[in-house]
Amino acid sequence: MSLAHGRPYLAIPGPSVVPDRVLAAMHRPAPNIYEGKLPDMVETLWPDLKAVARTRHHVALYIANGHGGWEAVNANLFSRGDKALVLATGRFGIGWAESMHAMGIEVEVLDFGRAGPADPDRVAAALAADRDHRIKAVALTHVDTASSARNDIPAIRRVLDDLNHPALLLADCIASLGCDEFRMDDWGVDVTIAASQKGLMVPPGLAFVWFSDRALAAGRGADLRTPYWDWEKRALAEAFYQYFGGTAPTHHLFGLRESLDMLVHEEGIEAAWSRHARLARAVWAAGEGWARQGAFRLNIADPAARAHAVTAMRLNSPDGTRLRRWCEHEAGLTLGIGLGMAEPGTPEADAYFRLAHMGHVNAHMVLGALSVMQAGMEALGIEHGAGALAAATRALAGDPAPARVAPAREAPVRERVGPSV
Ligand SMILES: *Cc1c(COP(=O)(O)O)cnc(C)c1O
Repeated sequence: MSLAHGRPYLAIPGPSVVPDRVLAAMHRPAPNIYEGKLPDMVETLWPDLKAVARTRHHVALYIANGHGGWEAVNANLFSRGDKALVLATGRFGIGWAESMHAMGIEVEVLDFGRAGPADPDRVAAALAADRDHRIKAVALTHVDTASSARNDIPAIRRVLDDLNHPALLLADCIASLGCDEFRMDDWGVDVTIAASQKGLMVPPGLAFVWFSDRALAAGRGADLRTPYWDWEKRALAEAFYQYFGGTAPTHHLFGLRESLDMLVHEEGIEAAWSRHARLARAVWAAGEGWARQGAFRLNIADPAARAHAVTAMRLNSPDGTRLRRWCEHEAGLTLGIGLGMAEPGTPEADAYFRLAHMGHVNAHMVLGALSVMQAGMEALGIEHGAGALAAATRALAGDPAPARVAPAREAPVRERVGPSV
């Protein structure tokens, strides 16, 4: 007997849960790619995509995953031998640096480990040492999905501004877009990358690159640029077929239209940020409760540096893997494996695991996931602190509601009840 039958919850940090509405929007006969419904609909995507990234600038869309998004940016901005500074706070920053290196870009990696964000002072020192401004761009992950560390992008922007360093600022928001607050233009980000299968709630297959006029100008003449990846052709296209460098990702585009309706027009992007912030607090509250006894730890100790989209955690090896398997086989909850936190195949790799709370998730899913994790620890005899679930429910309940006996004139207190980022 297993308790897993019923609706599963895939809580790995991408692909994320796809809303039924998005799946339904994709379930249709192949559309004509030359005229009619699809080309008309696609024109409605651009303003909403810019709204999600909070930019007035340009967006290019690719049939690709996040790795394709990295290569698109590398190809559009750099010539062989140009230099980039990559701030790594987990596996994904390293991955982007590797893709740059493989394409012939000179890469300096500042590795901040896997337990916290980039330190602006170290970034300042590296940029100050670059007196002849060879560093063309500073690249970082907003949220590193492996460590669940979240970088303070405005702080890195200030470092560039204070030093008057002309490098472009490039942000991988593949895990964070639609989940963690992000404001491309206000924060002075020149290039933003996302993919469809995380906070945007669409199956994998679309990569998005937003770029500023500065990035557009800086990339002109880049010798790594090839016709397929050329972002100018896509973002400044004059004909529908140019948007996609060939056949459009037909069904994904209908799915994306539906997800943007949900995110931008129905919930609102700021409300989505608040929802993720509140759900993340419930996860942290449970995690801090479990950590009071035994080996359980949240990977990122400082709450200000924790992602709102995913949480990396650990137990003693091999209990992370044992718990993950129990949750999947006995309870229908699939947690993410630990990624990039330890050498694959070593015992340490079986210590780490991740809970995704990105995209189409709500309070009962997150509380359900946390409760299942606790049941798993109990079933497997894994020591853990008490009171974790009560702390999680309190985090979701928010500030206490005013006592029912309160006089009417105190009613405005209730306005303070509600999510805050
Ligand atoms: C998921 C992810 C990637 C890689 O995306 P793929 O679609 O798997 O290629 C890169 N960076 C971050 C921050 C991610 O979360």
